[in-house]
This record gives sequence, C-alpha cells and structure tokens, in this order.
Amino acid sequence: MRNDNHKRLVIPGPVEVRPEILEAQTEWMIGHRSTAFAELFARLQELLKQAFLTQSRVFLVGASGTGLWEGASRNCIRDDRKVLHLVGGAFSERWAHVSRANGKQVDVIEVPWGRAHTPEMVAEALKKERYDAVCFVHNETSTGVTNPVREIAEVIRPYEETLILVDTVSGWLGAELRADEWGIDMALTSSQKAFALPPGLALASVSDRVIERAKQVPYRGYYFDFLEIEAGLQKNNTPSTPPISLMFAAERQLQDVLAEGLENRWKRHLYMRDMTTTWAIDRGFSIFAQEGYWSPTVTAVSNDRGIDVNEMAKFMAGKGFTMDKGYGKLKGKTFRIAHMGDMQVATLEEVLSGLDEFLAA
Ligand SMILES: *Cc1c(COP(=O)(O)O)cnc(C)c1O
Repeated sequence: MRNDNHKRLVIPGPVEVRPEILEAQTEWMIGHRSTAFAELFARLQELLKQAFLTQSRVFLVGASGTGLWEGASRNCIRDDRKVLHLVGGAFSERWAHVSRANGKQVDVIEVPWGRAHTPEMVAEALKKERYDAVCFVHNETSTGVTNPVREIAEVIRPYEETLILVDTVSGWLGAELRADEWGIDMALTSSQKAFALPPGLALASVSDRVIERAKQVPYRGYYFDFLEIEAGLQKNNTPSTPPISLMFAAERQLQDVLAEGLENRWKRHLYMRDMTTTWAIDRGFSIFAQEGYWSPTVTAVSNDRGIDVNEMAKFMAGKGFTMDKGYGKLKGKTFRIAHMGDMQVATLEEVLSGLDEFLAA
C-alpha cells in the first residue's frame, strides 16, 4: 500500500517516479541465471545502446553512481600514471576524492563553484602532463552547471592514451549526450536522477578502450572489476546478483523514453529550464550558474531575496511538494528546483505558482 500523504519530489534526486514505473518493479522475481534473465538483459542492452547513442556496450551494476566512480577510477588509471579531474562543485570534488582514496595520482583543474570548465583550460593542462584519463561531470547537480562535454572531449581526443570519463548522473536523458559521436569512453549514471527510476542501479556506456586499459591495471578490485563485468555481459549476465526489479522498471522506462524520443526529451528539459530561469529572474533572483551553462535538468537559484528556505519548503510541503534547500555549503544561499526525469511542464507550472504564493505571503 502506498502512502496517501506523498509529497511529489522536486529535489534533484531521488526524483519523482511514475506509478507505471513503480508498478513494473512488482513483476514476479526470476533467477539471474535463467534464460528469462538473459533475454531481459539482452533487450536492455539494445535499449541502453540507443539511449547512450553508443554501439559498444552498457554496464549495469547494482550500486549507486558512486560505485561506478570507484570502478572508473580503479580500472582506467594505471598506478604509475596520473588522472586529471575537473572540479567545480560538490560532485566533481567527490569523484576526485574517490580517485585519491583508491591510491591514484590526481591533478585537478578547479574552478569556483558555479563556473563551467572550458576546453581551453583542459587543452592547456594536457600540453603539460600526460594523463591516463580526464574525469569530469556533465551536469554538476550542486550548482546547476552543465559543462560543454562535446567541446572538452574534442580537445582530449587527440591524446590516445587519455580516456574520457564523464559523470552524467543528473544529465543523461535530460541533457544532450552522444557517447560515440562525442568520443566519450565512459558515460556513467545512476537510476534515481534524470533516468527517473528508484535508486539502486548504476549504468555506464563503456568503450573498447576502457576494456583494453583495464587489462593493463593489475588490481582492479573485485565488485567493480570491469573485465569480470564485461565477461558476464558477453553472456547476457552479471557477475553477482543484480537488482532485477529495477531492471524490469528500466526496460519499461527506456521504452517510454525512446517513444518520446531523445531529442524531444532534451527539448522538454530545455523548455523547463527556460521556464524556471525566467521565473527566477522575473522575481528578482539570479541564477547561481554562469550564464551560457545553465542546466536543462536542475536550476540553482541564488537566494538574492534572502527568503527563508526552511519556511519555503514547509509552505511547499503544504502544496504537496518536497523542495530542495540548497546543497552542502550552498544551503540557504541557493535553493534548487529540479526539472529532471519525467517532470512535465504542467507540474513545473504548479511548483512555480506555489512558490509565487509563498513569495506573496
Ligand atoms: C547524485 C550524483 C552523484 C552520486 O550519485 P549516487 O547515485 O548518489 O551515488 C554523482 N554525480 C552527480 C553529478 C550527482 O548528481
């Protein structure tokens, strides 16, 4: 039985999950060594390749996105080489920390929170040092910045030993991303943000270059050993028991996403981004992110009017919405309006008019 007192999620993860998707998880359980599972896995591969715009493969693991950060850092960076992390918010900072925690040698290009990284910065760094990988975040959820992934990847591609590893946890399926065309070796994500599933499933498009690199790294760990995951994948299987219910939900969601069309979905998110930023500016707020890099999936509104974000959240709860109050050190200085996943324009209109009532009160 579901709670009748549910407040729809307007936070940037986990996001609101449609009833049809919740329902898809209630399918009868199957064994992960059964034919039915192998068929499900194979169908998911085909759908996922379309959704990442890749011809290679898509890893599926039972973990949150953080697990694939660890997997990427561990499998893609050799011990005697370095990795370059682009840091400009809470999540990009944490991924750099994950690389260090795995004993990797990390260089960082840091920009103030709210700024984007430019291809020029990356090109400059690549002239000075050789890197096994450049790790960066597509959509920095803490600040509402979308980095120019295509342009950054373009300056990295000429360096043959440098893998392009992209966190698109809050971007994928909401903001344009083309894995093969843009030369991305690994685009990793998790289920509970722009994909709009419950949490627990992590996914990544993975190039052959990543597999070749993993062969050169002796200690890849166990749970996220890419060579084991790849060996399983070749047999439409996973090394350990995956979250099968979430995979049922993923199949349903991917069918719906592809029926909407990736480009239409990207457009819907851009439209909701424009609605949100226009609303904020018209009400005397500014946008925390640098202009030109405003995220299609989440807007961090600078709290220039000094509203009490706790009161705002309480008021909005009365309207049936769960609101964000700003991430980490930005709490209260910003608040974020998530417009990712399956949120529709009509819902966002309701959210914004609720906020108008709060501002008028
Ligand atoms: C939420 C988030 C993560 C962490 O993902 P989990 O699934 O919570 O582990 C990583 N990167 C970005 C950009 C995120 O928004």
